[in-house]
Amino acid sequence: MMPNLQIRWPGNRPFAFTVIDDTDWATVQNVKPVYDLLADLGFRTTKTVWMFQSENGINPGETCEDAEYRSWVVALQNRGFEIALHNAAAGTSDRVRSLRALDGFRDLFGNDTAIHCNHTGCLENLYWGDTRLSGWRRGVYRSLTRGVRTEISRGHVAGDPLFWGDACRERVRYVRNFVFDQLNTLKMCPEMPYYDPAKPYVNLWFASADAGNLATFLRNFTYAAIDRLVSERGLCIVYSHFGGGFAPGGHLDREFANRMTYIAGKGGWFAPVSTVLDHLRGEAGADERIIAPAALASLESRWLQNRTKVEVAKKVRRALRPRK
Ligand SMILES: [Zn+2]
Repeated sequence: MMPNLQIRWPGNRPFAFTVIDDTDWATVQNVKPVYDLLADLGFRTTKTVWMFQSENGINPGETCEDAEYRSWVVALQNRGFEIALHNAAAGTSDRVRSLRALDGFRDLFGNDTAIHCNHTGCLENLYWGDTRLSGWRRGVYRSLTRGVRTEISRGHVAGDPLFWGDACRERVRYVRNFVFDQLNTLKMCPEMPYYDPAKPYVNLWFASADAGNLATFLRNFTYAAIDRLVSERGLCIVYSHFGGGFAPGGHLDREFANRMTYIAGKGGWFAPVSTVLDHLRGEAGADERIIAPAALASLESRWLQNRTKVEVAKKVRRALRPRK
């Protein structure tokens, strides 16, 4: 499979930009202002949802069980945004609830979710925790994350009560994996969307660029970094949690709005994540998207390096923070 380095964007646009927004903390109050801004600026991105409320979930927010939230999300889809699943609920779901979520999603939105994103702490995640990696890199990851809560993911373990990998393979096209602090996602992962034969229940994987909360967005999405993305004619798939401080209390962060306005002014191709990934597949003209073992090893190493760099920088920032 040839990597997508020289891709052409529809309408001869200079670059492509989209967002996969994990629904952690999201409520109509704290994300509607973000989506109103995106819509006004011409962005059409992807928002994930939870179908069900649950107990013991990490970073809970509103779900499709809330009438007001549900109708707002449906209206968002009608404006051209893509809706996708972030697991069935914020807490762990067994097979029965995962399948009910897929069906409920189809009933509500009229189509299967094209995308699934694993949510932190859900034990029915697919190939999560150290199973994200292969070979010696798995051991490195384990030692890097020592002391941190370890997640044992079982969604891909056939026969387990949490197994739903078969349904994912049948109904879901794309699953998000590695996240980098660089904006040009295609440069970090030129093979995407790719198939990893060691992970047969996921059809195709994609990567993204870290804007997990407002502070991370402001740190990574500088004006210089945005200019670089455009000059590289790249693709940025932002990984975000818009519930994570972008419009706290319903008040849109001014600097976030400034930077999004700047990106919109660059005239890129602004389409939802699955539309962009479908385009990448089409350009390659190949049904087979198998990643070569060397390319996968290199991608995993790049991610480990990037993650280590980010963790060290975080420690330095913490050490330099003035003490009260
Ligand atoms: Zn999440």
